[in-house]
Amino acid sequence: MKVVLADHAGACYGVQRALDLADAALREDETAYTLGPLIHNPQVVASLAQRGARVVEQADQVDGGTVIVRSHGVTPQERAELERRAEKVVDATCPHVARAQKAAAKLAELGCVLVVGEPGHPEVAALREYARAAGARVHVVLDPADLPADLPACVGVVVQTTQRAETLRAVMDALEQRGIRTQVKDTICAATTERQAAAEKLATQVDAMVVIGGKNSSNTTRLAEICALHCSRTFHVESAAEVHAALFADGDTVGVTAGASTPEDQITSVVNALRRL
Ligand code: SF4
Repeated sequence: MKVVLADHAGACYGVQRALDLADAALREDETAYTLGPLIHNPQVVASLAQRGARVVEQADQVDGGTVIVRSHGVTPQERAELERRAEKVVDATCPHVARAQKAAAKLAELGCVLVVGEPGHPEVAALREYARAAGARVHVVLDPADLPADLPACVGVVVQTTQRAETLRAVMDALEQRGIRTQVKDTICAATTERQAAAEKLATQVDAMVVIGGKNSSNTTRLAEICALHCSRTFHVESAAEVHAALFADGDTVGVTAGASTPEDQITSVVNALRRL
């Protein structure tokens, strides 16, 4: 069996930065809170928990100590609450996400902002709240069918950093067909597009694809969806424990990619497990 790694795969700049900041915070302070998981990778979150990181679901559960703001960012209301309740706030919001938050607030000048992204995703919730806090009416859309019937003549559009360019294009086409003018901040991150393009290319060349990363990771799930369009035997795994011989055939060429929230050691361990089959 031949194993080929995608040209761009694994932990991006923003995730690596968040991990480095968390590592430094946990060296200084034995207990540090994160609001929601620091990154969408259960294995990494479990290992941080062993070192004293405590995941809380609400900002009002923080009581003193250090709090690390995750790479996806937080809403302005959550940030204010964390600053009130913690002794120290370590801001691990990815600079690209922070740029998208600023863009959402700026677009609020138009009165109506569309956030193209997954409803319920923490990054999207923060983008929505930044635009709302700046006075806009906000709609989260993932598909042209989500567009409300009563949109004004001009809207601002901002995008979840891990969205597919096709999703944005479909929404833009639908707005154009309705004659609605737009001001667009394409905040899709290059790390996302590079990983998606490399995964797509590899998926067309192999017999099976293995996509490594948290099942709760939006960018990894998107990579798996893209690969499945071109390679019917696409497997989304979180660790080497999910790599079984029964999934593959002798002589298969297996492509491997990994989400932006997947650290190098997880990729190495899955690649080694595949090579051992
Ligand atoms: S995918 Fe891009 S925006 Fe998201 S954390 Fe990584 S570098 Fe930042």
